[in-house]
Amino acid sequence: MDHFYRDSWVEINLDHVEYNIKQLAAHIGEDKGIYAVVKANAYGHGYAQVAQAALNAGASALAVAFLDEALHLRKAGIQAAILVLGATRPKDAAIAADHDISLTFYRKDWLEAVRAEQFRKPLQLHMKLDTGMGRLGFRTVDDIRSVLPLLDTPSLILEGVYTHFATADEADLSYFERQRSKFDELFKVLREEWPDPVIVHTENSAASMRFAADESDFVRFGIGMYGLYPSKTVKEEHPIALRQAFSLHSRLVHVKQLEAHEAVSYGATYETDKPEWIGTLPIGYADGWIRKMQGFEVLVDGKRMPIVGRVCMDQCMVKLDKAYPVGTEVVLIGSQLDAFISVDEVADWVDTINYEIPCLIGARMPRVYK
Ligand code: PLP
Repeated sequence: MDHFYRDSWVEINLDHVEYNIKQLAAHIGEDKGIYAVVKANAYGHGYAQVAQAALNAGASALAVAFLDEALHLRKAGIQAAILVLGATRPKDAAIAADHDISLTFYRKDWLEAVRAEQFRKPLQLHMKLDTGMGRLGFRTVDDIRSVLPLLDTPSLILEGVYTHFATADEADLSYFERQRSKFDELFKVLREEWPDPVIVHTENSAASMRFAADESDFVRFGIGMYGLYPSKTVKEEHPIALRQAFSLHSRLVHVKQLEAHEAVSYGATYETDKPEWIGTLPIGYADGWIRKMQGFEVLVDGKRMPIVGRVCMDQCMVKLDKAYPVGTEVVLIGSQLDAFISVDEVADWVDTINYEIPCLIGARMPRVYK
């Protein structure tokens, strides 16, 4: 949205995205490339803008979940390598090849179906190995042996091989180590039986920040690029400094004083016990500022003020410490004067992980880039 006509918006600090990429690049060393993971509208931050910032800062490729997302990036003029991490229908594989988009495969019948398609350009493929995530991937040595002959055709190029860790962000690393050993066991077969070099990438943000010595060629950097740590454990370890890129802003559109014993919002769940100043914000659960945000705080004049009454679809109310003019800026996530509300704090309030918060702030909310 280039122009918008209501006083609520997200600000994305692209300098922070670049800073976070550079921090990781310095940490993992020059020999390793970075896939900037920009799926789900760049975790709610904006596909093309984040992708461009990440590439400017030194990421060499992009990763998304679906072919639609990769095509969106191509339409936005992004020419860098793009890998689709999730499932693609065999009949859509030629579209990916036409746009130089690499696909993930993890089933033999998928490869058989793709071999029957007509290609104008060769299709680049990454083999996904399931070493313990239990989501997508070949699981055994026999699986790998049985699919390799299917790749021996000019229309298909085996570009990479990868896996995904389920617990790389946890304090107990035993399951992570099991996954690593499983990957080594499966990859050994590929190395022995496939003549051409392939790109190896195993590490997500947690693994890349914590175990930078791993023997892979690329890391897949998602949550860290947005300035968020993948877990409290990793945040406490603080392997690299990160800067949160996402902030959420609004303005008071109405300010009034209620008498004692007057109520606010649906269900009349909040009642004043004395005269109180109440401000209205034009943001609600349809924007992803969900009903559970009731009772949380926002920043007005650098001070924390509580959200009172139920959050409505498009609006919510805050209790103010005094009268403020209509148009006063309110920060729901981010900093104002000396105060700061982190994405992590919002996630804790709604009992979820930080990943979910910027993803939840929907398409109706304009994104402004700084
Ligand atoms: N790789 C794969 C296959 C993923 O699904 C994801 C995200 O879910 C990532 C990498 C990035 O993970 P993170 O955001 O924890 O860095």
